Amino acid sequence: MVKHVIPKSLDEAVDYLYDGSYQVIAGGTDLMVQKRSTAETPPQFASNLLFAFNLDELKYIKKSERCIHIGSMTSLETILHHHDAPNILKEVILDMASPAIRNVATLAGNIGNASPAGDSLVPLYLLDAQIILFSKNQFRHLPIEKLILGPRKTVIRNDEIIKDIAIPIHNFTKTKWTKVGGRQADAIAKVSFLGAVNIENEMILDFRVAFGAVYKTIIRSREIEKEYRNISVTEFKEKRDEIVKKYEELILPIDDQRSNKEYRKKVAINMLNDFIINI
Ligand SMILES: Cc1cc2nc3c(=O)[nH]c(=O)nc-3n(C[C@H](O)[C@H](O)[C@H](O)COP(=O)(O)OP(=O)(O)OC[C@H]3O[C@@H](n4cnc5c(N)ncnc54)[C@H](O)[C@@H]3O)c2cc1C
Repeated sequence: MVKHVIPKSLDEAVDYLYDGSYQVIAGGTDLMVQKRSTAETPPQFASNLLFAFNLDELKYIKKSERCIHIGSMTSLETILHHHDAPNILKEVILDMASPAIRNVATLAGNIGNASPAGDSLVPLYLLDAQIILFSKNQFRHLPIEKLILGPRKTVIRNDEIIKDIAIPIHNFTKTKWTKVGGRQADAIAKVSFLGAVNIENEMILDFRVAFGAVYKTIIRSREIEKEYRNISVTEFKEKRDEIVKKYEELILPIDDQRSNKEYRKKVAINMLNDFIINI
């Protein structure tokens, strides 16, 4: 029979996780839906459950010299209203679910679920977030793109828990977030886009873009970005077709119940074009 535990501390949590038989549940807004077979039936879990949402020591937002640290059990709604949380992340969270869901849903859950349509993953990729995993007496720090392998696939071991999400502090002159869903609120993205630039004296010092829901993971290419830094804004805009062509090769969406691949690709490319034109 499936067991469930509610540890009182992080140390107690990793003691339970040590034998590898427990799955962490945070807000449960993904897991409870995934494990329910039909409406009005209780969810069916195959593994033991470790309920972590009441671990207050994992509820914090702290600013250090270079990073914002977000504890893994901090709700999305808390992040949304915190003055130290990165503005781009807040803008994205505002487009996620509804306040009721956001009061229990977490960034860690969005990461653990590893959906290519997971909205918060787009800014976390763009901002070079590091995920800090904890297991018995051991920490592992991984860049988000190394942690997520594909839909619902991560390298998080059964004995590990996401403890902290560390987000480097960046200053961008302009950012642009666009999410296309079936409706304004409570909709999973058909396609999403986040662009950011830092411009000084008409020079592009930093250029980044990330796309959601158009590949098996979030798309971000450091190689392409590097090629178009340290050039003038005019030159950058002149190279728009070349830049778009490079991303076109990376955008490989699928058909599903929310949208089809032709629509997703076209909209993603339109968003990139629009971002470059409006810099
Ligand atoms: C009505 C509704 C609307 C939604 N709208 C959106 C939306 O607009 N955008 C969007 O991206 N998502 C949306 N979601 C999905 C969901 O709310 C988010 O993915 C949320 O961030 C999941 O967080 P959670 O804490 O509830 O995760 P949970 O369901 O608790 O967990 C999800 C996964 O992460 C793992 N996990 C959780 N915490 C940890 C941890 N600390 N360490 C290791 N593994 C962990 C779990 O084992 C599980 O595999 C919606 C869901 C619902 C029900």
